[in-house]
This record gives sequence, C-alpha cells and structure tokens, in this order.
Amino acid sequence: MLSNLAVRDIETLVHPYTNLATHREVGPLILERGEGVFVYDTAGKGYIEGMAGLWCTSLGYSNEELVEVAAEQMRKLPFTHIFSGRSHDPAIELAEKLKEIAPVPISKIFYGASGSDANDTQVKLVWYMNNALGRPQKKKIISRLKGYHGVTVASASLTGLPANHTDFDLPIAGILHTSCPHHYRFAQPGETELEFSSRLAAELEEMILREGPETVAAFIAEPVMGAGGAVTPPEGYFEKINAVLAKYDVLFIADEVITGFGRTGNMFGTTTYGLKADTLSCAKAITSAYFPLSAVMISEPIYEVLVDQSRKIGTFGHGNTYAGHPVGCAIAVKTLEIYQRDDIVGHVRKVAPKFLQRLEKLAEHPLVGEARGVGLIGGIELVKDKATKAQFEAKKGVAAKSGAFAQDEGLIVRPLGGDRVAFCPPLIINEAEIDEMFDRYERALAKTL
Ligand code: PLP
Repeated sequence: MLSNLAVRDIETLVHPYTNLATHREVGPLILERGEGVFVYDTAGKGYIEGMAGLWCTSLGYSNEELVEVAAEQMRKLPFTHIFSGRSHDPAIELAEKLKEIAPVPISKIFYGASGSDANDTQVKLVWYMNNALGRPQKKKIISRLKGYHGVTVASASLTGLPANHTDFDLPIAGILHTSCPHHYRFAQPGETELEFSSRLAAELEEMILREGPETVAAFIAEPVMGAGGAVTPPEGYFEKINAVLAKYDVLFIADEVITGFGRTGNMFGTTTYGLKADTLSCAKAITSAYFPLSAVMISEPIYEVLVDQSRKIGTFGHGNTYAGHPVGCAIAVKTLEIYQRDDIVGHVRKVAPKFLQRLEKLAEHPLVGEARGVGLIGGIELVKDKATKAQFEAKKGVAAKSGAFAQDEGLIVRPLGGDRVAFCPPLIINEAEIDEMFDRYERALAKTL
C-alpha cells in the first residue's frame, strides 16, 4: 500500500535513472532526515547509507559545521555570480585551497555546478584551445566503455554506457570509446593484469594511429570507474596509457568526480594510481554534497591560450549562472578545512583494511564472482556460475533484487548494470559501522540466492 506522499510522487515526478514503468507500481523510497552515516525514511526506519548518497556525502548527514557556514553565507551574501570579472572571497579562498592540493599542474580554477558540466567544460576547452592554436582538426576525445562522465550532451557522449546513448542519438561525432579495463570481465583466459593492461594500451595506440594522431586531442578516465561497476584499474594500466598519450600529444583529463577528496586513501585517485593527468574535474565530495559545486583544474599553458583568445576575440564565452556560487564555495572551503583538520585521508587509510576485508569476504558467496575495491570504494560482480563467470540476463535484475533485500535490512547500496553492486559509504564511517553494513548486505545476499 503506497503512502499518500508516494502517490503524490508518482503523480508529479520524473525520476532520473529510474525505471519509470516499474516506479509507478513500486513507488519511491522517501527519505526525511540523516545522521552520521544513517538516513531515515518517513516511517522512521534507518538505513546505513552505503553509497554516501551518490558517492558524495563524504562527511555524513549531520555535519553542523557545514550547516553553520552555509547559513552564515546565506545571511551575508546568498548569491553573486562571477561573470564579467565579478568575484567574492569564498570563490577565491577555495581556488587557493584547491591549487594547494591539486595533483595536476594547475594555474586556475573554473567552477561549475555538477560533474556533468565540469566534463562538458573539459570538452569545450579542448575544442576551443585547439582552434586557438590553429589545429582545428585535433578535436577527437577518447573515453572508455563503461566509463561514466555525466549526462549533458557532451558528457553523456563521453560516458560509455548503453542507457545513456540508446535513443538519445548519442554519442556525438568525435567521441570514441576504447575498452573497459575490467580484468575479471574482459581479460582473455590466462591473461595477467599486466598483460591485459599492455593489450589495452596497444589498443588505444592503434585507435590513435587509425584516427590519425593529428585528430586526437584528449583521453578521459576515472581513476576508479564508478557507475561502470566500481572497477579498480589493473596493474600497470595508467602507466602504460600515460606512455601512449605522451607519444601522440594527447591530453589526459582525470575525472575525479567520485575519487577526489580522500575516497581512495589519498586526496586524489590520481595520486593513488600514479597517473599523470593534464587537467582534472572534481565535484561531489568537494562540498560533501551539501551544495552542488564542481571545479575544473586548468593548467598554465591552457590558461595562457584562453587569455590570448580574449585578446583576439574578446569575451571567453562560457560559464553558468551558479558557477562559483558563494554558498557552495563557503561550504567547500569548510569541507576542505575539515578534511585536513580531521585527517580524513588518515581515517580512510585506517578503516579501509576492514572495508576491503569484509568486501572480499563477499566473494565466498556462490553468487559473487568478484569483489574489488580500494580505500572506501568497492564493487561486486554477481554471476550465475562462478567457474564460467556466466552472467545473469540483464532482465533478471539480480543486483537490483539484492539491493531491494538490502533496503529491507536497513542498508542502501547501488545496483549497477544488472549484475554489479557498489559500496561507497561516507568517509567518516567507523569499523563497527562497516561491519554492520556488510552484515546487513550478507543477509540480503542470502535472501537473493
Ligand atoms: N563523472 C563521474 C566519474 C561521476 O561519477 C559522475 C556522477 O556520478 C559525473 C561525472 C557526473 O556528475 P553529476 O551527476 O554531478 O553531473
């Protein structure tokens, strides 16, 4: 029996990333409040938020310092834009802090409001820069199958998942996809991780040569694939990819929308995997998701091109109303201060062994073909047959089934692509809560079988 609020939801909302037909029968999970790593629905039932919302509420659900700083900024100056050279203190302070911790060569920050628009900006900057440099043919961008980069026309094109392309007339021209680096699923029989990485790097090189290096501008990748299944890279992968990109003057855009700010046990996933990126997109945990904000890190050579273009053609014609929103920037400044003061990276490193041990233990279950993770992000692969790695038919929705049982048990996880489940709790989670999270999921799995 659906509640009155649920009925009103069905009558009024189109939900993102939802089976809209099923939703009419099942209805929504309506959350009302949160505390620590828990969220509570309208009936008062508590859930461990095993996904930190959508990989984002790093400091949990009741951080009073963030609420305070937001209220203070709301009272002082709830909005000013940063168009036409206008500015404000929180935007400047945040840019300074980001420059201090950036793992890429950085000169300036360009703000947005979502991960999608940050990656859209990356695409536009690549195009704009290459036109300005007099090489208009160098525009193609290579992404990866199962990579996730957002939903705008350009960022959804970068995304390598069928649901984002089918019947949306995407991807747009000039966006190419190379193989997904998921060793368990895509390695050939007997192929080691290193061999797999070498094969993928060779495939990337072939693609660049086939297209013509003079036409390929950039490559984009998440250090750990999120929506593609919480997939950690195979051994040697980024080192080999980096070597290919350097050989053909192809920029590396690191999409750290999920991995930024401590998730992998370093401030950035770029550091965890020693990858060398030219520019970086971040969002989500930049404000612990208490406000929508994203940032693109721009290197000095790219910035110089932008300034030069302004000398030639005037205004840099890009940016949205809420770019550098003062409330978002003030919250982000405080968030970064808390990460440093409370040594959140140290905390992630301390509790990650427990998280990974419990995650890996799931692989003992007959339904779990693989469990993989780093820091406080991980995923499992549900299979019909462990020996052959045979997959369930997507229609069976086995991951969604386990997710629904988890919800009954008081846990939120994220089913992905039919047979994968992701775990990505708030970074403040403690060891007892990690145990409780996996105890609840083990009970859900037992019911799924
Ligand atoms: N990039 C990555 C790696 C993401 O995981 C996401 C969202 O989950 C995005 C980009 C898009 O961010 P948003 O949903 O804020 O537009």
